[in-house]
Amino acid sequence: MPKKVEIAIPPAQVINFINTNRMVTNFVGMARIDTVSDESKAETNQVPSTESQRDFAYMLNEQLKNIRSVKNVVVDKFAVVTATLPSNVQMSAKQIPTVGLFAHMDIADDVPTDHITPRIHEKYKGGDLKLDHGTVIPKEELIELIGDDIITTDGRTLLGADDKAGIAEIIEVLHFYDEHPEIPRPKIRIGFTPDEEIGRGLDFFNVKKFGASAAYTIDGSVPGELEAETFNAHMVKIIFKGTNVHPGFAKGKMVNSLRALADFITKLPRNEAPETTEGRQGYIHPDSIEDRSVEESSLTLIVRDFNYKGSLSRIKKLEKLVEEVRKLNPGCTIEMKVKEQYKNMKEYIAKKPEVINYAKQGIKDTGLQLIEKAIRGGTDGSSLSVMGLPTPNLAAGGHLFHSKKEFLAVGDMKKCAATIINTMSAWVRELGKRT
Ligand SMILES: [Zn+2]
Repeated sequence: MPKKVEIAIPPAQVINFINTNRMVTNFVGMARIDTVSDESKAETNQVPSTESQRDFAYMLNEQLKNIRSVKNVVVDKFAVVTATLPSNVQMSAKQIPTVGLFAHMDIADDVPTDHITPRIHEKYKGGDLKLDHGTVIPKEELIELIGDDIITTDGRTLLGADDKAGIAEIIEVLHFYDEHPEIPRPKIRIGFTPDEEIGRGLDFFNVKKFGASAAYTIDGSVPGELEAETFNAHMVKIIFKGTNVHPGFAKGKMVNSLRALADFITKLPRNEAPETTEGRQGYIHPDSIEDRSVEESSLTLIVRDFNYKGSLSRIKKLEKLVEEVRKLNPGCTIEMKVKEQYKNMKEYIAKKPEVINYAKQGIKDTGLQLIEKAIRGGTDGSSLSVMGLPTPNLAAGGHLFHSKKEFLAVGDMKKCAATIINTMSAWVRELGKRT
Protein backbone atom coordinates (compact mmCIF):
# COMPACT_ATOMS: atom_id res chain seq x y z
CA MET A 1 0.00 0.00 0.00
CA PRO A 2 1.42 3.43 -0.85
CA LYS A 3 2.37 5.50 2.16
CA LYS A 4 -0.11 8.28 2.89
CA VAL A 5 1.43 11.67 2.22
CA GLU A 6 0.67 14.11 5.02
CA ILE A 7 0.40 17.71 3.89
CA ALA A 8 0.66 20.35 6.57
CA ILE A 9 -1.91 23.08 6.05
CA PRO A 10 -0.64 26.69 6.10
CA PRO A 11 -2.60 28.75 8.71
CA ALA A 12 -4.21 30.96 6.06
CA GLN A 13 -5.56 27.83 4.35
CA VAL A 14 -7.04 26.20 7.47
CA ILE A 15 -10.39 27.88 6.81
CA ASN A 16 -10.73 25.92 3.56
CA PHE A 17 -10.52 22.64 5.44
CA ILE A 18 -13.46 23.38 7.73
CA ASN A 19 -16.39 21.12 6.86
CA THR A 20 -18.99 23.88 6.47
CA ASN A 21 -21.88 21.57 5.78
CA ARG A 22 -21.29 19.44 8.86
CA MET A 23 -20.80 22.48 11.11
CA VAL A 24 -23.92 24.31 9.87
CA THR A 25 -26.10 21.18 10.01
CA ASN A 26 -24.95 20.58 13.56
CA PHE A 27 -25.62 24.21 14.52
CA VAL A 28 -29.12 24.21 13.02
CA GLY A 29 -29.97 20.95 14.81
CA MET A 30 -28.78 22.32 18.14
CA ALA A 31 -30.46 25.70 17.66
CA ARG A 32 -33.84 23.93 17.37
CA ILE A 33 -33.51 22.65 20.93
CA ASP A 34 -34.85 25.00 23.59
CA THR A 35 -32.16 25.15 26.31
CA VAL A 36 -33.29 28.38 27.96
CA SER A 37 -32.00 28.91 31.50
CA ASP A 38 -34.33 29.99 34.30
CA GLU A 39 -33.53 33.31 35.95
CA SER A 40 -35.96 32.56 38.79
CA LYS A 41 -33.59 29.77 39.91
CA ALA A 42 -30.61 32.13 40.03
CA GLU A 43 -30.86 32.51 43.80
CA THR A 44 -31.13 28.75 44.44
CA ASN A 45 -28.48 26.06 44.18
CA GLN A 46 -30.24 24.34 41.30
CA VAL A 47 -27.66 23.98 38.53
CA PRO A 48 -28.63 23.42 35.79
CA SER A 49 -31.65 25.66 36.22
CA THR A 50 -33.60 23.70 33.58
CA GLU A 51 -33.69 19.97 32.77
CA SER A 52 -33.57 20.73 29.04
CA GLN A 53 -29.94 21.76 29.53
CA ARG A 54 -29.17 18.37 31.08
CA ASP A 55 -30.75 16.58 28.09
CA PHE A 56 -28.72 18.79 25.79
CA ALA A 57 -25.55 17.92 27.75
CA TYR A 58 -26.19 14.21 27.12
CA MET A 59 -26.74 14.92 23.43
CA LEU A 60 -23.33 16.64 23.32
CA ASN A 61 -21.88 13.72 25.26
CA GLU A 62 -22.95 11.41 22.39
CA GLN A 63 -21.54 13.74 19.74
CA LEU A 64 -18.18 13.99 21.48
CA LYS A 65 -17.95 10.23 22.00
CA ASN A 66 -18.40 9.75 18.26
CA ILE A 67 -15.25 11.72 17.50
CA ARG A 68 -12.52 9.08 17.52
CA SER A 69 -9.65 11.06 19.02
CA VAL A 70 -11.73 12.72 21.75
CA LYS A 71 -11.29 10.99 25.12
CA ASN A 72 -12.58 11.29 28.62
CA VAL A 73 -16.09 12.56 27.86
CA VAL A 74 -17.93 13.24 31.12
CA VAL A 75 -21.26 14.86 32.05
CA ASP A 76 -21.24 15.77 35.75
CA LYS A 77 -24.26 16.24 38.00
CA PHE A 78 -24.40 19.95 37.19
CA ALA A 79 -24.66 19.08 33.47
CA VAL A 80 -21.18 20.40 32.73
CA VAL A 81 -19.73 18.46 29.79
CA THR A 82 -15.97 18.01 29.73
CA ALA A 83 -13.74 16.11 27.31
CA THR A 84 -10.11 15.86 26.27
CA LEU A 85 -8.38 15.95 22.92
CA PRO A 86 -4.89 14.63 23.67
CA SER A 87 -1.94 16.46 22.16
CA ASN A 88 -0.16 14.90 19.20
CA VAL A 89 3.14 16.65 19.88
CA GLN A 90 5.99 14.23 20.64
CA MET A 91 7.20 15.64 23.91
CA SER A 92 6.95 14.83 27.58
CA ALA A 93 3.50 15.52 28.97
CA LYS A 94 4.93 18.14 31.32
CA GLN A 95 6.13 20.28 28.45
CA ILE A 96 2.85 20.27 26.56
CA PRO A 97 0.41 23.03 27.53
CA THR A 98 -3.23 22.22 28.24
CA VAL A 99 -5.62 24.77 26.77
CA GLY A 100 -9.36 24.90 27.49
CA LEU A 101 -12.20 25.79 25.12
CA PHE A 102 -15.52 26.79 26.64
CA ALA A 103 -18.99 27.53 25.29
CA HIS A 104 -22.30 27.71 27.11
CA MET A 105 -25.29 25.50 26.41
CA ASP A 106 -28.07 27.72 27.73
CA ILE A 107 -29.81 30.47 25.79
CA ALA A 108 -31.28 33.77 27.00
CA ASP A 109 -34.93 34.20 27.97
CA ASP A 110 -35.45 37.75 26.65
CA VAL A 111 -37.66 36.61 23.73
CA PRO A 112 -39.51 33.31 23.06
CA THR A 113 -37.30 30.20 22.78
CA ASP A 114 -39.91 27.54 21.97
CA HIS A 115 -40.07 25.93 18.53
CA ILE A 116 -37.04 27.77 17.17
CA THR A 117 -37.06 27.46 13.38
CA PRO A 118 -33.70 28.39 11.86
CA ARG A 119 -33.72 29.65 8.29
CA ILE A 120 -30.77 29.90 5.95
CA HIS A 121 -30.78 32.84 3.53
CA GLU A 122 -28.33 31.75 0.86
CA LYS A 123 -26.01 34.31 -0.71
CA TYR A 124 -27.44 37.40 0.95
CA LYS A 125 -27.81 40.09 -1.70
CA GLY A 126 -28.07 43.21 0.46
CA GLY A 127 -31.04 45.21 1.78
CA ASP A 128 -33.18 44.67 4.87
CA LEU A 129 -33.70 41.03 5.74
CA LYS A 130 -37.45 40.61 6.28
CA LEU A 131 -38.46 37.70 8.47
CA ASP A 132 -42.02 36.69 9.43
CA HIS A 133 -43.91 38.17 12.38
CA GLY A 134 -42.84 41.69 11.41
CA THR A 135 -39.22 41.15 12.36
CA VAL A 136 -36.74 42.97 10.14
CA ILE A 137 -32.95 42.85 10.34
CA PRO A 138 -31.85 46.28 9.06
CA LYS A 139 -29.34 46.27 6.21
CA GLU A 140 -26.86 48.31 8.28
CA GLU A 141 -26.33 45.26 10.49
CA LEU A 142 -25.54 43.08 7.48
CA ILE A 143 -23.36 45.39 5.45
CA GLU A 144 -20.19 43.29 5.66
CA LEU A 145 -21.99 40.05 4.89
CA ILE A 146 -23.16 40.44 1.30
CA GLY A 147 -22.71 37.14 -0.55
CA ASP A 148 -22.59 35.11 2.66
CA ASP A 149 -25.22 32.63 3.83
CA ILE A 150 -27.10 34.12 6.79
CA ILE A 151 -28.86 32.01 9.44
CA THR A 152 -31.85 33.63 11.17
CA THR A 153 -35.06 32.42 12.83
CA ASP A 154 -38.55 32.87 11.40
CA GLY A 155 -38.71 36.15 13.32
CA ARG A 156 -40.72 34.85 16.28
CA THR A 157 -37.97 33.52 18.55
CA LEU A 158 -34.38 33.74 19.62
CA LEU A 159 -31.83 31.91 17.44
CA GLY A 160 -29.45 30.99 20.25
CA ALA A 161 -26.26 31.51 18.21
CA ASP A 162 -25.24 32.80 21.65
CA ASP A 163 -23.75 30.38 22.31
CA LYS A 164 -24.58 27.36 20.15
CA ALA A 165 -22.43 28.85 17.40
CA GLY A 166 -19.54 28.52 19.86
CA ILE A 167 -20.42 24.88 20.56
CA ALA A 168 -20.79 24.03 16.85
CA GLU A 169 -17.42 25.63 16.08
CA ILE A 170 -15.61 23.82 18.89
CA ILE A 171 -17.06 20.48 17.78
CA GLU A 172 -16.03 21.21 14.20
CA VAL A 173 -12.50 22.00 15.42
CA LEU A 174 -12.41 18.58 17.10
CA HIS A 175 -13.51 16.92 13.85
CA PHE A 176 -10.82 18.88 12.01
CA TYR A 177 -8.11 17.59 14.36
CA ASP A 178 -9.51 14.08 14.06
CA GLU A 179 -9.14 14.30 10.30
CA HIS A 180 -5.83 16.18 10.34
CA PRO A 181 -3.49 14.46 12.77
CA GLU A 182 -0.59 16.12 10.94
CA ILE A 183 -1.51 19.50 12.47
CA PRO A 184 0.24 19.82 15.85
CA ARG A 185 -1.96 20.78 18.78
CA PRO A 186 -1.66 21.24 22.53
CA LYS A 187 -3.71 19.09 24.86
CA ILE A 188 -7.20 20.57 24.52
CA ARG A 189 -9.82 20.41 27.26
CA ILE A 190 -13.43 21.06 26.34
CA GLY A 191 -16.00 22.58 28.71
CA PHE A 192 -19.65 22.98 27.71
CA THR A 193 -21.39 24.71 30.60
CA PRO A 194 -24.99 25.50 31.65
CA ASP A 195 -26.59 28.67 33.02
CA GLU A 196 -24.16 31.30 31.72
CA GLU A 197 -27.00 33.71 31.01
CA ILE A 198 -28.02 33.70 34.67
CA GLY A 199 -24.41 33.78 35.90
CA ARG A 200 -24.53 30.45 37.71
CA GLY A 201 -23.00 27.80 35.44
CA LEU A 202 -19.54 27.80 37.00
CA ASP A 203 -20.54 28.00 40.65
CA PHE A 204 -19.60 24.37 41.17
CA PHE A 205 -16.88 24.16 38.52
CA ASN A 206 -13.59 22.64 39.63
CA VAL A 207 -10.84 24.53 37.81
CA LYS A 208 -8.09 22.32 39.27
CA LYS A 209 -9.75 19.13 38.09
CA PHE A 210 -10.32 20.64 34.64
CA GLY A 211 -6.55 20.83 34.48
CA ALA A 212 -5.91 23.55 31.89
CA SER A 213 -3.38 26.36 32.32
CA ALA A 214 -5.33 28.81 30.15
CA ALA A 215 -8.58 28.78 28.21
CA TYR A 216 -10.86 30.67 25.82
CA THR A 217 -14.61 31.15 25.87
CA ILE A 218 -15.99 31.10 22.32
CA ASP A 219 -18.84 33.48 22.98
CA GLY A 220 -18.13 36.78 21.21
CA SER A 221 -19.50 38.33 18.05
CA VAL A 222 -17.38 39.52 15.11
CA PRO A 223 -14.47 37.33 13.87
CA GLY A 224 -11.18 38.86 15.01
CA GLU A 225 -12.57 40.01 18.35
CA LEU A 226 -10.52 39.37 21.45
CA GLU A 227 -12.04 40.38 24.75
CA ALA A 228 -9.85 40.24 27.84
CA GLU A 229 -11.61 42.76 30.00
CA THR A 230 -14.99 42.83 31.72
CA PHE A 231 -16.72 45.11 34.18
CA ASN A 232 -16.28 44.82 37.94
CA ALA A 233 -19.80 44.17 39.08
CA HIS A 234 -21.65 44.83 42.33
CA MET A 235 -25.29 44.49 43.22
CA VAL A 236 -26.67 46.92 45.80
CA LYS A 237 -29.95 46.45 47.61
CA ILE A 238 -31.41 49.34 49.59
CA ILE A 239 -34.24 48.70 52.02
CA PHE A 240 -36.39 51.63 53.20
CA LYS A 241 -38.48 51.04 56.32
CA GLY A 242 -41.24 53.48 57.22
CA THR A 243 -44.30 53.52 59.49
CA ASN A 244 -47.82 53.07 58.18
CA VAL A 245 -50.79 54.80 59.76
CA HIS A 246 -54.30 55.32 58.32
CA PRO A 247 -53.87 58.34 55.99
CA GLY A 248 -56.74 60.07 57.78
CA PHE A 249 -54.81 60.18 61.02
CA ALA A 250 -51.28 60.26 59.64
CA LYS A 251 -50.13 63.76 60.42
CA GLY A 252 -46.83 63.70 62.24
CA LYS A 253 -46.97 59.87 62.46
CA MET A 254 -46.67 58.34 59.02
CA VAL A 255 -43.23 57.75 57.55
CA ASN A 256 -43.65 56.78 53.90
CA SER A 257 -40.87 54.47 52.67
CA LEU A 258 -41.96 55.02 49.05
CA ARG A 259 -41.23 58.72 49.34
CA ALA A 260 -37.72 57.99 50.60
CA LEU A 261 -37.16 55.51 47.77
CA ALA A 262 -38.31 58.07 45.21
CA ASP A 263 -36.01 60.71 46.75
CA PHE A 264 -33.15 58.29 46.40
CA ILE A 265 -33.76 57.53 42.72
CA THR A 266 -34.09 61.23 41.92
CA LYS A 267 -30.65 61.83 43.41
CA LEU A 268 -28.90 59.21 41.25
CA PRO A 269 -26.49 60.83 38.77
CA ARG A 270 -28.05 60.76 35.30
CA ASN A 271 -24.70 61.02 33.58
CA GLU A 272 -23.65 57.75 35.24
CA ALA A 273 -26.42 55.56 33.83
CA PRO A 274 -26.35 52.75 31.23
CA GLU A 275 -28.42 54.94 28.91
CA THR A 276 -25.88 57.78 29.03
CA THR A 277 -22.57 55.88 29.02
CA GLU A 278 -20.58 53.72 26.60
CA GLY A 279 -17.13 52.29 25.91
CA ARG A 280 -15.06 52.26 29.07
CA GLN A 281 -17.42 54.36 31.21
CA GLY A 282 -19.03 52.76 34.22
CA TYR A 283 -22.50 53.32 35.65
CA ILE A 284 -25.00 53.04 38.49
CA HIS A 285 -28.26 51.50 37.33
CA PRO A 286 -31.50 51.31 39.35
CA ASP A 287 -32.70 47.96 38.07
CA SER A 288 -35.85 47.03 39.97
CA ILE A 289 -38.13 47.88 42.85
CA GLU A 290 -39.17 44.83 44.87
CA ASP A 291 -41.24 45.66 47.92
CA ARG A 292 -43.38 48.74 47.47
CA SER A 293 -45.59 49.77 50.36
CA VAL A 294 -45.64 52.68 52.77
CA GLU A 295 -44.26 50.35 55.44
CA GLU A 296 -41.38 48.95 53.44
CA SER A 297 -39.92 49.32 49.99
CA SER A 298 -36.70 48.10 48.45
CA LEU A 299 -34.60 48.96 45.43
CA THR A 300 -31.97 46.91 43.61
CA LEU A 301 -29.19 48.67 41.74
CA ILE A 302 -26.23 47.38 39.81
CA VAL A 303 -22.87 49.14 39.84
CA ARG A 304 -20.44 48.60 36.96
CA ASP A 305 -16.91 49.90 36.46
CA PHE A 306 -13.83 48.59 34.62
CA ASN A 307 -11.72 49.90 37.49
CA TYR A 308 -12.28 48.19 40.86
CA LYS A 309 -11.52 51.38 42.80
CA GLY A 310 -14.01 53.16 40.55
CA SER A 311 -16.68 50.63 41.59
CA LEU A 312 -15.90 51.21 45.25
CA SER A 313 -16.12 54.99 44.88
CA ARG A 314 -19.51 54.65 43.16
CA ILE A 315 -20.65 52.54 46.12
CA LYS A 316 -19.36 55.27 48.46
CA LYS A 317 -21.42 57.76 46.47
CA LEU A 318 -24.52 55.61 47.08
CA GLU A 319 -23.76 55.58 50.81
CA LYS A 320 -23.63 59.37 50.77
CA LEU A 321 -26.98 59.54 49.00
CA VAL A 322 -28.47 57.21 51.60
CA GLU A 323 -27.27 59.69 54.24
CA GLU A 324 -28.91 62.60 52.40
CA VAL A 325 -32.20 60.72 52.00
CA ARG A 326 -32.15 59.79 55.69
CA LYS A 327 -32.00 63.49 56.56
CA LEU A 328 -34.88 64.26 54.20
CA ASN A 329 -37.02 61.50 55.72
CA PRO A 330 -36.74 61.52 59.50
CA GLY A 331 -37.96 58.29 61.05
CA CYS A 332 -37.22 56.23 57.96
CA THR A 333 -34.70 53.42 58.48
CA ILE A 334 -32.50 52.82 55.46
CA GLU A 335 -30.28 49.81 55.10
CA MET A 336 -27.84 49.23 52.24
CA LYS A 337 -26.44 45.79 51.31
CA VAL A 338 -23.62 45.34 48.79
CA LYS A 339 -22.82 42.07 47.02
CA GLU A 340 -19.89 41.56 44.67
CA GLN A 341 -21.03 39.74 41.53
CA TYR A 342 -17.92 39.38 39.37
CA LYS A 343 -14.59 41.03 38.76
CA ASN A 344 -12.76 42.45 35.78
CA MET A 345 -10.73 39.54 34.44
CA LYS A 346 -7.97 41.80 33.06
CA GLU A 347 -5.51 41.60 35.96
CA TYR A 348 -5.99 37.82 36.24
CA ILE A 349 -5.33 37.31 32.55
CA ALA A 350 -2.31 39.61 32.68
CA LYS A 351 -0.57 36.99 34.83
CA LYS A 352 -0.41 34.75 31.75
CA PRO A 353 0.28 37.06 28.81
CA GLU A 354 0.75 34.19 26.33
CA VAL A 355 -2.99 33.44 26.43
CA ILE A 356 -3.49 36.84 24.77
CA ASN A 357 -0.42 36.69 22.55
CA TYR A 358 -1.33 33.32 21.03
CA ALA A 359 -4.89 34.42 20.39
CA LYS A 360 -3.60 37.53 18.61
CA GLN A 361 -1.32 35.29 16.56
CA GLY A 362 -4.24 32.98 15.74
CA ILE A 363 -6.41 35.91 14.63
CA LYS A 364 -3.62 37.32 12.46
CA ASP A 365 -2.76 33.94 10.92
CA THR A 366 -6.41 33.50 9.95
CA GLY A 367 -6.12 36.76 8.02
CA LEU A 368 -8.39 38.76 10.32
CA GLN A 369 -8.15 42.25 11.73
CA LEU A 370 -7.68 42.16 15.51
CA ILE A 371 -10.49 43.88 17.41
CA GLU A 372 -9.63 44.29 21.10
CA LYS A 373 -12.66 45.08 23.20
CA ALA A 374 -13.71 45.47 26.81
CA ILE A 375 -16.98 43.69 27.53
CA ARG A 376 -19.67 45.89 29.08
CA GLY A 377 -20.85 42.90 31.06
CA GLY A 378 -19.48 39.69 32.48
CA THR A 379 -18.66 36.33 30.94
CA ASP A 380 -17.94 32.84 32.19
CA GLY A 381 -14.35 33.91 31.52
CA SER A 382 -14.55 36.47 34.35
CA SER A 383 -15.40 33.72 36.85
CA LEU A 384 -12.83 31.29 35.42
CA SER A 385 -10.06 33.92 35.38
CA VAL A 386 -10.71 34.86 39.00
CA MET A 387 -10.68 31.13 39.89
CA GLY A 388 -7.18 30.91 38.44
CA LEU A 389 -7.82 29.90 34.84
CA PRO A 390 -7.08 32.93 32.62
CA THR A 391 -9.88 32.89 30.03
CA PRO A 392 -10.35 35.68 27.49
CA ASN A 393 -13.21 35.57 25.00
CA LEU A 394 -12.98 34.85 21.27
CA ALA A 395 -15.68 35.42 18.66
CA ALA A 396 -18.38 32.87 17.80
CA GLY A 397 -19.89 34.95 14.97
CA GLY A 398 -23.41 35.75 16.21
CA HIS A 399 -25.02 39.20 16.02
CA LEU A 400 -27.88 41.00 17.83
CA PHE A 401 -27.84 38.54 20.71
CA HIS A 402 -30.89 38.14 22.94
CA SER A 403 -33.34 39.32 20.26
CA LYS A 404 -35.61 37.98 17.54
CA LYS A 405 -33.22 39.54 15.03
CA GLU A 406 -30.30 37.40 16.18
CA PHE A 407 -28.35 36.10 13.19
CA LEU A 408 -25.22 34.28 12.24
CA ALA A 409 -23.24 34.26 8.97
CA VAL A 410 -21.84 30.93 7.81
CA GLY A 411 -18.61 32.56 6.58
CA ASP A 412 -18.10 34.04 10.03
CA MET A 413 -18.52 30.62 11.65
CA LYS A 414 -15.74 29.32 9.43
CA LYS A 415 -13.48 32.24 10.34
CA CYS A 416 -14.14 31.67 14.05
CA ALA A 417 -13.39 27.93 13.81
CA ALA A 418 -10.18 28.63 11.85
CA THR A 419 -9.16 31.20 14.47
CA ILE A 420 -9.48 28.58 17.21
CA ILE A 421 -7.27 26.15 15.26
CA ASN A 422 -4.65 28.79 14.47
CA THR A 423 -4.61 29.91 18.11
CA MET A 424 -3.98 26.31 19.18
CA SER A 425 -1.18 26.11 16.59
CA ALA A 426 0.40 29.23 18.10
CA TRP A 427 0.50 27.50 21.50
CA VAL A 428 2.53 24.57 20.17
CA ARG A 429 4.64 26.47 17.65
CA GLU A 430 6.34 28.21 20.58
CA LEU A 431 7.21 24.85 22.11
CA GLY A 432 9.70 24.11 19.38
CA LYS A 433 11.46 27.38 20.13
CA ARG A 434 11.70 26.60 23.81
CA THR A 435 13.30 23.16 23.47
ZN1 LIG B 1 -23.08 34.02 25.47
